[in-house]
Amino acid sequence: MFTVKPLPYDKKALEPYMSQETLSFHHDKHYQTYVDNLNKLISSGEFENMTLEEIVQKSANNPAYTAIFNNAAQVFNHGFFFAHMAPSGLKRPADDLLKKIEQTFGSYENFEKEFKSAALAQFGSGWAWLAENENGDLQIIKTSNADTPIAHNLRPLMTIDVWEHAYYLDYQNRRGDFVDAFLKHLINW
Ligand code: MN
Repeated sequence: MFTVKPLPYDKKALEPYMSQETLSFHHDKHYQTYVDNLNKLISSGEFENMTLEEIVQKSANNPAYTAIFNNAAQVFNHGFFFAHMAPSGLKRPADDLLKKIEQTFGSYENFEKEFKSAALAQFGSGWAWLAENENGDLQIIKTSNADTPIAHNLRPLMTIDVWEHAYYLDYQNRRGDFVDAFLKHLINW
């Protein structure tokens, strides 16, 4: 049985950049629903005793397991996303990762620019990520709907949820403003 990871901060802690109302719906309703659906879908089946990562990897690209993949990936993605925000967390990565980001993208500011571009270029629902491949190379990717780096042998390092449910109550159609606020005020490396 999977459970929702409790938020590591108060629901009001991210205001005014992410409202209590958004977090209530997003964490307590959307994320909870993915967890509930996943638990129902895997009960008494071959996935029952696997880890979340194993379920995602095993169900990826298999049309027989689309519903399991979508819910498992969303459980992973949301747990990761909520854990990487904080009102006054680490707004820049620690030395080693920062150095690697600067080497890969030229500067931290340029990383922010490219991360924002990916978040804006994701058409419809999805996610933007900073991820690392098996060789330790960094890349910015976007994924559609529930898709997730761990289905592609990539290790996620940062993400932003750009489904409308993540920002519509606070920013309506202004996804770019949400991404800016995330990068400046919400991110927690
Ligand atoms: Mn979401």
